[in-house]
Amino acid sequence: MRRPGARTGAGDGPRCSRAVRIGAVRVGGGAPVSIQTMAKADPRDTERIVRQLRAARAAGCDIARVAVPDLTAARSISRIRERTGLPIVADVHFDHRLAIEAARCGADGLRVNPGNLGGPRAVRAVAEAARAAGIPIRVGVNAGSLPKRAGRPVAASVSAVVRAALDMANEFFRCEFFELKVSLKAFDVPLTIAANRAFAAASDLPIHLGLTEAGPPLSGAVRSAAALAPLLLEGIGDTVRISLSGSPAEEVRAARTLLVCLGLRKGGAVVSCPTCGRTSAEVVPVARRVEHFLEESGLSLVVAVMGCEVNGPGEARAADVGIAFGPRGRGLLFEGGVVVESAPNRELERLLMCRLRQAAEARHG
Ligand code: SF4
Repeated sequence: MRRPGARTGAGDGPRCSRAVRIGAVRVGGGAPVSIQTMAKADPRDTERIVRQLRAARAAGCDIARVAVPDLTAARSISRIRERTGLPIVADVHFDHRLAIEAARCGADGLRVNPGNLGGPRAVRAVAEAARAAGIPIRVGVNAGSLPKRAGRPVAASVSAVVRAALDMANEFFRCEFFELKVSLKAFDVPLTIAANRAFAAASDLPIHLGLTEAGPPLSGAVRSAAALAPLLLEGIGDTVRISLSGSPAEEVRAARTLLVCLGLRKGGAVVSCPTCGRTSAEVVPVARRVEHFLEESGLSLVVAVMGCEVNGPGEARAADVGIAFGPRGRGLLFEGGVVVESAPNRELERLLMCRLRQAAEARHG
C-alpha cells in the first residue's frame, strides 16, 4: 500500500490530492478550490470576530481561521463557529497546549507552524488531540519562520521550505496521523511558486495556497494572483487565502475574483473598458455599481459596460448583457449578443440594472 502523503506518478498528469474535511467542507480529492480568510480582531472580542466572519461568509468564504494566542481564545471557538456558520480553524503558535485545547473546544481544524510548535512530544500530543476530535491539521510553513537546524536559523529557500513541510508531515505520519494539509508560504512570488510545485511533486497531501503577507488590497491582490494563478492552472492548490492588509471580506472577494477569472468557480464578471478620449459617459462609477450588484446578488453573469461604440458593441455582445454609451447622447443595450434597445445614455444604467434585478429575482425564485 502506498504510504500516505507520498506521491506516485508525479508529473504524469493533473495532481489529485488526498481529501480532508474541515467541518462540512471537503478540501482536496478533486473538491472545488475553497476560499479561506482569517479573523482580524482581538481574540477576546468575539462580537467583532463574528461580525467580520459573517461579512466574509456573505462574500463567499468557506473556511475561517482565528488566532489562538491563549486559552480564552481557544474556548471561544465553538461560539464563533455557531454564530458564523463557518468551519473554524484554530491558528496556534509556540504553545502546543493551545492546539489541544482548541481541538477539545470544537475547532474544525488546527494550523500549526513547524518553526515553533515544539519537538516530537508536542507533535504527538497535538496529533492525539486532533485524532480524538476527528479534525485535520494544517502544517503551515512560513519562509520567514523555518525550524532551526542544529540551533541555527535556516535561510529561506525552496528546498528549506519544502523540507520543513515534509519533515513535519513525516513526524505526524510517525504518530499514525494522516489527516494533514500543508501550506508553503513566503512573501516572495517565485519562491512560493517553486516551493509549492516541488511539494506537489513529492506529496499528495492537499495544499493550502497563499502568501504570508501579500500587502495592501490592490498590490496584495496582484501579488497573490501572480503567485497563485500559475499553480492553480497547473492543478496545484486545494484551498486558498489571499492575505491582505484589509478586511476578511476583502480577502474573500479577491480570492473569489481570482477563482472566477481562472474558471475554477462560477461568478459574475464586469467587462468594462478602460475609458479614453472617446468615452461618452461616466463608465467607472457605473462599472463599480454593477460589480457591487453582482457581488451582492451572486449572479453568475458577464456584464459589459463600455464607453463608446468603437469597441463597445463588439465587447458587449460577448457578454450576457451590457451597455455601450454612444456619441450624441444615445447608446445601446445588448442582451445575449443582440441589440435590444437604443436609449439615451442617461437611461442605460437604469435599463441594465432593471435586467440584472430581474435575473436576480428569477435566480432566487
Ligand atoms: S470602448 Fe471606446 S471609450 Fe472605451 S476604451 Fe475603447 S475606444 Fe475608448
